Amino acid sequence: MRVASVLVPLPVAEAFDYELPDGMTVGRGTQVTVPLGPRRLRGVVTETRETTGSNRRLKAIEAVLDDPPLPERTVDFIEWAARWTLSPPGEMAQMALKGLRNPAPRPERRVRHLPGRDPARPTPSRTAALAALGERSLPAADLARAAGVSSGVIKGLLDEGVLEVVEVSAVAAFDPPRPDHAPARLSPDQVAAAAAMADGVASRAFAPFLLDGVTGSGKTEAYLEAVARTLAAEPDAQILILLPEIALTQALIERIAARFGATPAEWHSGVSPPSRRKVWEAVIAGRCNLVVGARSALFLPFANLRLLLVDEEHDASFKQDEGLVYHGRDLAVVRARIEGAAVVLASATPSLATLWNARQGRYRWLRLGARHGTAVLPDVALVDLRETPPGRDQWLSPPLRKAMAETLARSEQVLLFLNRRGYAPVVLCRACGHRLTAPDTDSWLVEHRYTGRLVCHLTGFSMPKPRACPACGAEDSLVPVGPGVERVEEEAKSLFPEARAAIFSSDTAPDGRTARALIEAMAAGEIDILVATQAAAKGHNFPGLTLVGVVDADLGLRGGDLRAAERTFQLLTQATGRAGRADRPGLALLQTWTPEHPVLQALAAGDRDAFVEAEMAEREIAVLPPFGRLAALVLSSENVPALERTAAELAKAIPNAERLEVYGPADAPLALVRGRRRKRLLVRADRDVDLQGFLRAWLARVKVTASVRLTVDVDPYSFL
Ligand code: ADP
Repeated sequence: MRVASVLVPLPVAEAFDYELPDGMTVGRGTQVTVPLGPRRLRGVVTETRETTGSNRRLKAIEAVLDDPPLPERTVDFIEWAARWTLSPPGEMAQMALKGLRNPAPRPERRVRHLPGRDPARPTPSRTAALAALGERSLPAADLARAAGVSSGVIKGLLDEGVLEVVEVSAVAAFDPPRPDHAPARLSPDQVAAAAAMADGVASRAFAPFLLDGVTGSGKTEAYLEAVARTLAAEPDAQILILLPEIALTQALIERIAARFGATPAEWHSGVSPPSRRKVWEAVIAGRCNLVVGARSALFLPFANLRLLLVDEEHDASFKQDEGLVYHGRDLAVVRARIEGAAVVLASATPSLATLWNARQGRYRWLRLGARHGTAVLPDVALVDLRETPPGRDQWLSPPLRKAMAETLARSEQVLLFLNRRGYAPVVLCRACGHRLTAPDTDSWLVEHRYTGRLVCHLTGFSMPKPRACPACGAEDSLVPVGPGVERVEEEAKSLFPEARAAIFSSDTAPDGRTARALIEAMAAGEIDILVATQAAAKGHNFPGLTLVGVVDADLGLRGGDLRAAERTFQLLTQATGRAGRADRPGLALLQTWTPEHPVLQALAAGDRDAFVEAEMAEREIAVLPPFGRLAALVLSSENVPALERTAAELAKAIPNAERLEVYGPADAPLALVRGRRRKRLLVRADRDVDLQGFLRAWLARVKVTASVRLTVDVDPYSFL
């Protein structure tokens, strides 16, 4: 009997075996329909084999689907990623099929010039229309626009049989990028980096790079040149550019369109279902060279992936903590290895993990020096709040206010950075001291004045602000404590009533379109003071911006997880790096209560190496990543006794292992989320320990009851 292993979309650790009916041919990657109980599921074949005299009765594969098979290397990647993250491989496979589950876009109706047919009356408009069309096919409306003629002219040509209507499947619609459309004049540094990356691609072997250079040093320009060289050498090469946030994609897409004369494909949660389907089909057919996307684009079934670029590689948004738990940057490196491709991790503040790999010689380290052109890095100064504190219920210190006034007087722009949405992070009762918390989650409610609601930022729960304290009943006693961006904007407006102020956060810019509108308004100088969370700290160019005020530089340092210092350093470097990008020098002022903190000292001195040295030394002593490895197990349940029981069973079942410790189980810092109690265990291992093997052996010993959810997080970024 012939047997095929099939990945099905279920939370199981293995592929299921099915009988392969006579006459049916499948291979690795073939998409099939299989029965499972009463259901029919779409599955992906991983392997086939002959068996003799099995006594198991297997069900048979029902049908081979018309949809194209996943490329073998995509299947290799899925299986590898599932093993590494201890995720169900069938659910990983679903990530690669995502675009396919959307409805197909309707074919586009376009007009085409019938060869050899000329109009009986060649009026100037008709001649112009035919000249604009050439040998292409275009939607009639686009042609009318391109030729500057009325739609009646096109209709006349159609009626006369000079033009004909053709239906074009949308898959054909990604125009190939043109490498020499609008090349930039690069600095010698940029040329050297681009050449190295392109040579990496040409080697046809796994070639990882760190592209390291301060904000504005021209990294993007350099990697676009590597893209151009790659496409010039291999016109059917596919290239994937990953960005941490949707808000960044539009600007890059426009830059690519200007550089290559063709719009790249876009892939993230904001893309419409028919467009996703179109991208998916074009990618698997090898008819799309360039994809710009969020981390999930990693799972697209590329036919010929040659180069992966991970921009802002240090960004924690590449880590997905819910559902399938994976790190987009790390898996990009894995995918490149499996594809035999080049991968470039670009950042002004590379993660410690990446720096460590570069130091070890695992990644080739490309450095870009000064900022491009005349722009210089901003001066960074610390404002010691102990010496110059802001007034009561104010957040902007006298030195920052003075610098703002001077900047605005020169008609330049100010960015006030505070990584906190809403008006106030805490609401307190003046009468009894009660702090308002969410009903089903261990988190304080945040006051939002724009919407007049109290919001839980973890779950999205919200309620109107009550008039009376829910604890003591006192009326009008609830007061906001501490600042969020809305409150800082209020203060800035009252200080500078003439200035045009705006807020940039996920509340005011919830999607790519609104984010882009705000970014464009800021870039065009239509905003004088932008108060922003981290959403605006990344990657944007604001030529008129010369002052960045960091309202609370201590904020990120307080949380105290493994990467608190690293993240703070990166975020503040990115935020302060916004200033002085064009020809005007910038200034960044960091308000702090602890100016002696090493992170802030390193920032003020502009000394990244000093920070990295200090932080690496601490991690090395504790044998924490990148020197050691971590994995977290999170248990959650509404059923507290079942949760306790499972946690105790897990604790009893820990396999013996050397150079590895298990901490916990302990109540999670966020002990209650959406009504579920949470417990955590943390595993620390030396680098050479088979951590995944240990976890698999451990979990095989314990049966987790249905009412308890277990999440395994290899290399956790969240410790809550
Ligand atoms: P990074 O990605 O390192 O932040 P970018 O590539 O975005 O830097 O470059 C910063 C700015 O400098 C951009 O406005 C870019 O267009 C410009 N720039 C970079 N390199 C060049 C170049 N060789 N010629 C002209 N402008 C450049």
